[in-house]
Amino acid sequence: MALLANRPLAIIPAPEAPMNRPEPRAPASLNNAQMRAVHHLDGPCLVLAGAGSGKTRVIVHKIARLLQHGLGPKQIAALTFTNKAAQEMRERAKALVGPRAAKDLAVSTFHSLGVRMLRADGTRVGLKPNFSILDSDDVLALIRDAGGCSDNALARRWQWAISLWKNQGLDADAAEATATGDDQRVAARVMRRVQERLQAYQAVDFDDLIQLPLLLLQRDAEARARWQAQFQHILVDEVQDTNAVQYALLKALTGERGLFTAVGDDDQSIYGWRGATIDNLKQLPLDYPALSVIALEQNYRSTGHILRAANAVIAGNPKLFEKKLWSDLGDGDPVRLIECDSEEHEAERAVARIQSLRAGQTDGGSTSGSTLRFADFAVLYRANHQARVFEQKLRAAQIPYKVSGGQSFFDRAEIKDLCAWLRLIVNNDDDPAFLRAVTTPKRGIGHQTLAALGEFAAPRKTSLFDALFAPSLAAALKGKAVDALHEFGRDVHTLQERATHTTGTEDAKALLLDWLSDIRYEQHLHDGEDSQKLAEARWRNVLDFIDWMARRCGGDEDTGGAAQRQSVLQVAQTISVIISLADRGDEQDVVTLSTLHAAKGLEWPHVMLASVNEGLLPFRSGDDDMTAERLQEERRLMYVGITRARYTLCVSTLKRRKKGRDTVIGVPSRFIGEMKLDEAKLQEDPRARLKKLRDAMAAKVAAAPGLR
Ligand code: ATP
Ligand code: MG
Repeated sequence: MALLANRPLAIIPAPEAPMNRPEPRAPASLNNAQMRAVHHLDGPCLVLAGAGSGKTRVIVHKIARLLQHGLGPKQIAALTFTNKAAQEMRERAKALVGPRAAKDLAVSTFHSLGVRMLRADGTRVGLKPNFSILDSDDVLALIRDAGGCSDNALARRWQWAISLWKNQGLDADAAEATATGDDQRVAARVMRRVQERLQAYQAVDFDDLIQLPLLLLQRDAEARARWQAQFQHILVDEVQDTNAVQYALLKALTGERGLFTAVGDDDQSIYGWRGATIDNLKQLPLDYPALSVIALEQNYRSTGHILRAANAVIAGNPKLFEKKLWSDLGDGDPVRLIECDSEEHEAERAVARIQSLRAGQTDGGSTSGSTLRFADFAVLYRANHQARVFEQKLRAAQIPYKVSGGQSFFDRAEIKDLCAWLRLIVNNDDDPAFLRAVTTPKRGIGHQTLAALGEFAAPRKTSLFDALFAPSLAAALKGKAVDALHEFGRDVHTLQERATHTTGTEDAKALLLDWLSDIRYEQHLHDGEDSQKLAEARWRNVLDFIDWMARRCGGDEDTGGAAQRQSVLQVAQTISVIISLADRGDEQDVVTLSTLHAAKGLEWPHVMLASVNEGLLPFRSGDDDMTAERLQEERRLMYVGITRARYTLCVSTLKRRKKGRDTVIGVPSRFIGEMKLDEAKLQEDPRARLKKLRDAMAAKVAAAPGLR
């Protein structure tokens, strides 16, 4: 069976049959509380409820209700946390309201909405129409450069600090004013330089995608009135994970009327480390005295044992809002606890569990009769790197899988190469993109030439690209170097020209393939890779990427707002946002490997929570102090993990675990005890059971006199 990781078309989402719904449920229905939330149309509404209680379902049904009420699809915005969640919501809405209306709904992430607003109105906040969007790696490089620092760890700390400031709505001046200690003051100074460079490159980072639209609405009355009129109702899923700036943007968009519906669960707030704040939930009733707060108490997802374990764990956290959560799905199977010798052993047991449940073996060893799909299973863990060993064992067992929340397809070097070119055609002032594109594939332009070009451009305050065409450049550089640079400039212009006018899937694909052939990109991959196989795999990724882009040009995919035909240039402009927040979202029959963070909002019939050990969950790096707040956030992660399961939950711990290069004794997580699993059976390893059986037989044989 082909593995997903090697499937060429894995990035093309198949829109039908979302993965997380293994079997059809009862016809769409709502309980009374859900109904109240859906029918509350004339004021702000907050649905505050525990996991699996149908919050996301409320949003989808409310979209249908608003349409019925007379709103046009374009007047409804639904904001989700990831692109994948947006896609899923669009699909669910499509099933309810039909494809026509669903197509025009503005279902997107906060970031995609930000892109849409800046695309329309960026010039009003000092951006050129074609600005670039830098992803986190580009920003890191910029920070290293601006801070004159080669220490990646330090640059990353600066990046965190700067991002947190931005998420609190602070600029460099305000950051410097609040900075405590020398480290923070240095970070604030780096922030100022980074902002200057972003401005010079006409580039924005992800945080700017929220902050600049907010500035726009705050400063520009005309734009504010227009956007407020555009969206007659805004729905927000997972509101507990919004940060201060996102909340401010929501407020600015809804204005005094406050026509919005927010749903969330404070017990699932797991992005505090990235600046999200539950304060928004506390602030909502103060900012909107007319706010209607609706609680949902019935959990429709999980069976009793699972839900009780989840409730028991989260009871250890202080309560922001009192919540009850019950399920009438019966007790179901007890939560399983498995003790494993090592990471490898844990992965083997996960594979064995998938195989035996699929073969119809229930936990008790009897056969259940129904066949499960691979997509009914998920293995969840705390950190990205934990996926590796599961991948190995699944591959060895020929079980197809996908990894979500880990290194993305789009982080691969070949895709980033192409993105650099695309960024450059969108925005000629994007110097980081220029430097990558001009050297990939190599065209005889070396570092000396580029340094000279940089020295030429700096005092003139032009971008590297503009400097290419300055008449006086010829005097500053060697003739051959100037010729090579000019040729590059012409290539970029040609692509830019064609990309502006090409729309539609087929034409876009032809254009992009032409371009790759012009720059001899396939040859470049073969030149740079010793192994032909690896070069071919990279080329296949490139072709996938081209397909993916072309389909967006045809308007086939979610484009962060209305789905319509777009030019290659338009798609190129949104690319870093789409790809950075994207989960490839394919709906194939595969096992999901996911971090707990990326599993938020999703559900699977059978879930395995892996490596639930002290140090891993709750996570602890080095000798960090585990503050009460951090421990609480880790506990919420555990709660999120448990509540992803519908029918069975298996929690495993490691007796010995790897820590860096060492192997250390594994201590079961405190969260295991907190689940209060009195009924849980410590499940025996089938290998050990077999061995016991063999030993017993051998003993019997040995004891039987006639057989000696
Ligand atoms: P989370 O907190 O994990 O995001 P949620 O509160 O958003 O969960 P949903 O994902 O909307 O919950 O719903 C959980 C499951 O329960 C889904 O499979 C959904 O279809 C089902 N469900 C929700 N409400 C009902 C209902 N009234 N009748 C039947 N099934 C329901
Ligand atoms: Mg949800």
